[in-house]
Amino acid sequence: MKLEILYSQNSINTYKSCPIKFKYKYIDNINWKKFGHKEYYDSLVYGSEFHLVCERFFNDIPLGIDKNSLFYSWIEKIKSIVDTNEGILLPEYEIRFKLDGKNLVAKYDLVIIKEDKIEIWDWKTENKKMSYENYKNRIQTIVYLFLGMEVLPKIFDKNIDYQDISMNYYQMEFDDEPKKIVHSKENHFKYKEIIKNYINSIENNNFYKNTNHCKYCELENICKGI
Ligand code: SF4
Repeated sequence: MKLEILYSQNSINTYKSCPIKFKYKYIDNINWKKFGHKEYYDSLVYGSEFHLVCERFFNDIPLGIDKNSLFYSWIEKIKSIVDTNEGILLPEYEIRFKLDGKNLVAKYDLVIIKEDKIEIWDWKTENKKMSYENYKNRIQTIVYLFLGMEVLPKIFDKNIDYQDISMNYYQMEFDDEPKKIVHSKENHFKYKEIIKNYINSIENNNFYKNTNHCKYCELENICKGI
C-alpha cells in the first residue's frame, strides 16, 4: 500500500497510543465523536478558544473578552513571561519538512525568532498538572524541536546551535514559570531516529490494537464492530 501521509505530533501520538486508531483516523479517514464525554469535548473547545485569544493578542488584534474573565487573567500571565519587545513573534506558525521523503508538519502556538536564539511556546489549558518529565518525553517535544531545528534557522537565515532552540510549555492554570526544554545535538539525532521508527512502522502497516486507552477512545464502538 502506498501511503501519502502528512505526519504530525498529533498523528504520531495517536499511533503511539494505539496503532490501529492511527489507521482508522489517518488512512481510513474515520472521524467520530464520542458521545457521553461532554467534559472532554468541552475542554477541547475551551482550549481552542483560548488559543484563538492568544493568536489575537500576539497579532495585536483586540481580544474581545471581558477584563474580569479567566482568559483575560491568563493573557496577563503570558504578558509577564513572554517578552513581546524582542525578536520576531510568529503566532500559530506552521512549518513543513521532508524526512527521507516523508512529509512532516508542526504548527506552533508561538515562535519567537531572537537575535541568537529561537523560542517555541505552547499554551496548555488542561486541568491535570504536568511535570517537566511529562513534557520532556512527549511526542510533541520530539517533533517540534526536531522540525524547528531543521527548518527555522534556514527560513530566518540564523546561525543557531542546537542549544539555542528551546521548547517552552506554559500551563495556564498552574505555572508561574514555563517548563523550558533546551534542545541538544544528542537529542536531535535521537529524536530523528524516534520519528523515523514511528514512520517506518506505520509505512510497514504495523497496525494493532492497544486496549489501554479504549475507555476514552471516540472510536470504541466502531472498533468493536471491525
Ligand atoms: S477502541 Fe481501543 S483498540 Fe480501538 S481504536 Fe480505540 S483505543 Fe484503539
